[in-house]
Amino acid sequence: MALRLEEDVLLKNYCTFKVGGQAKHFVKVETEADLREALQLVAKEHWPLFILAHGSNVIFPDEGWPGLVILIGIKELKIEGQSLRAGAANMMNELVDASISNGLAGLEWAGGLPGTFGGAIRGNAGAFRGEMKDVIASVRSIETTTGREIERKNDGAMFGYRDSIYKRHSEVIVSAAVELRQGDQAELRATADKWIAFRQDRHPLEFPNVGSIFKNTPIGRVPENWMAHFHDFIKNDPFPIIPTGKIIDDAELKGFKIGQAQVSEKHANYIVNLGGATSKDILGLIDHVKQVVRDKFQIELDVEPEVVSSKE
Ligand SMILES: Cc1cc2nc3c(=O)[nH]c(=O)nc-3n(C[C@H](O)[C@H](O)[C@H](O)COP(=O)(O)OP(=O)(O)OC[C@H]3O[C@@H](n4cnc5c(N)ncnc54)[C@H](O)[C@@H]3O)c2cc1C
Repeated sequence: MALRLEEDVLLKNYCTFKVGGQAKHFVKVETEADLREALQLVAKEHWPLFILAHGSNVIFPDEGWPGLVILIGIKELKIEGQSLRAGAANMMNELVDASISNGLAGLEWAGGLPGTFGGAIRGNAGAFRGEMKDVIASVRSIETTTGREIERKNDGAMFGYRDSIYKRHSEVIVSAAVELRQGDQAELRATADKWIAFRQDRHPLEFPNVGSIFKNTPIGRVPENWMAHFHDFIKNDPFPIIPTGKIIDDAELKGFKIGQAQVSEKHANYIVNLGGATSKDILGLIDHVKQVVRDKFQIELDVEPEVVSSKE
């Protein structure tokens, strides 16, 4: 099928933060053949390339994207025995629901996790002591520059805290398989629903946001003179950390605003778009939070979502 290429597409309509200017060129691909064709076009036209899925972990610049945005729409979902195979564009909640309906355990922690399977693999998404790396059996990808197909087993994907080889290699994840185990359907449903309810209760889902704005803080980053202050809040998820929300809260930044971007009143590790925020507001607020935390606690924070630069 011929590609349906669009021009000047507003990226704020394709991300959960609702910020970002126009993509010069934009195409949605629903098959691997379309993806290959789009990648060939990028090579031919020398366009900068950005791969987009659900847009729940990206901050697009107000200036937009000067090249082609490929929106990944490749889907499939099948279960054989204890193995579930899905396309990169299947939403994580589809995987959670399908596994539970088949009495398969391993994905309940992802109840309420926004975004696609491919996006979750790339960032080794995790919550409530679960991570993608615990369940992934294999991942298929296509190298953007050569079109070469690559299949990696779990250890080849080099998963780390919110990290994988796909953050360093120019590849598009097209599909993957997860290995699950037998479980009790009603118990699995109750666990996933518990996490969905927890998110609805604790996170500011009433405003556009991008999830946690900073990664959690490894205890090794906390200076000795502040350890006693944070000691009771140490969590082992997925290694000993201080929840960064606690650090930002103690820096008295809840509610702080730049333009229409605000440190959430409900959860200090969320920045929310109060309506009409710009990427500049959000990035300014991120810098401010980092500086205040650095000045007060001598702790360095790492930004979690992908901050896209219009100059790439
Ligand atoms: C309310 C809320 C709560 C959240 N809670 C959590 C949480 O608990 N834990 C957590 O880890 N994250 C969380 N997130 C962040 C986000 O949901 C995850 O990072 C998610 O996995 C991103 O998937 P996506 O489809 O939205 O990816 P996108 O935002 O579209 O893309 C993210 C990055 O992955 C790349 N990418 C996407 N698809 C592919 C692909 N197929 N191949 C190669 N690269 C690709 C993109 O280029 C981009 O760099 C939350 C976000 C929100 C809004």
